Amino acid sequence: MEVFREPDSLQKFLSAHRCAGRSIGLVPTMGALHDGHLSLLSNALRENDIVVSTIYVNPTQFNNAEDLEKYPRQEQHDLQMLEESGCHAVFVPPDEVMYPERPRVTVGFSEMEASMEGEFRPGHFNGVALVVAKLFNAVQPDRAYFGQKDLQQYLIIRQLVRDLGFRVTLRCIPIFREASGLAMSSRNQRLTDQERTRAAHIHRMLQESATRLREGGSWEQVQKGGLDYLSENGLRPEYFEYVDVETLAGHPNHFDGNEVALCVAAYVGTIRLIDNLILDRS
Ligand code: AMP
Repeated sequence: MEVFREPDSLQKFLSAHRCAGRSIGLVPTMGALHDGHLSLLSNALRENDIVVSTIYVNPTQFNNAEDLEKYPRQEQHDLQMLEESGCHAVFVPPDEVMYPERPRVTVGFSEMEASMEGEFRPGHFNGVALVVAKLFNAVQPDRAYFGQKDLQQYLIIRQLVRDLGFRVTLRCIPIFREASGLAMSSRNQRLTDQERTRAAHIHRMLQESATRLREGGSWEQVQKGGLDYLSENGLRPEYFEYVDVETLAGHPNHFDGNEVALCVAAYVGTIRLIDNLILDRS
């Protein structure tokens, strides 16, 4: 596996493969890799000749300095995992390569970022859009892989691709979970054993809420029940929303054709976790 720290040598490597007619898949990450990331990677390896992963903890998408500072960083371990998984190249740019100067461009997503992560992490999606656009330019992939775990992020990137005309096909890969149901996340590393047990209530709450909606419960009741359940189990919920998966509009009609999802963010101690469940219409 080749390791690149600046875009020129990466582009040289990739253009040789492109000229030979090989397809290129991109898997962007912030490192501290887990099986969720590897699931994106295995999808990319199945569908492309060459797979490039990136490891970059993007400062412009953090609105909380402590979260950025404490974000787990384990480059050597990540490189080994990528190598063992069969990844062909990894791009690990330092900050001065990604942001040689303070970016002045800001990217807004209108009503798509008015709720959930956009509401509670102001500026977050501007930072995501900047870094993803830079990575698309550096790699020019045929396909790029993102996780349903960050559902709003995926939909925002899909809008970015449509609005700016990036020539890339996006793939959204289902959430990879621990045996307890807890969605895998790099931030889980920072949980104590007791917090990890508590965090599993997030997925339980989503499943229970989906059942109650299916049985005809009103969203207002289900939302209150879900928020209360998290609080009673020692978590501090930030939001719990019911949205249309195409438009992210709240309070969707489950039966009007589009997919709908339950999305939640909650603190376990000082660690903020997110999760979601796309509802089965059957
Ligand atoms: P991150 O390193 O957290 O920025 O995540 C990099 C990519 O992996 C994003 O597209 C995430 O949505 C995806 N991802 C993170 N956790 C999971 C998971 N548990 N299952 C599937 N994809 C995930």
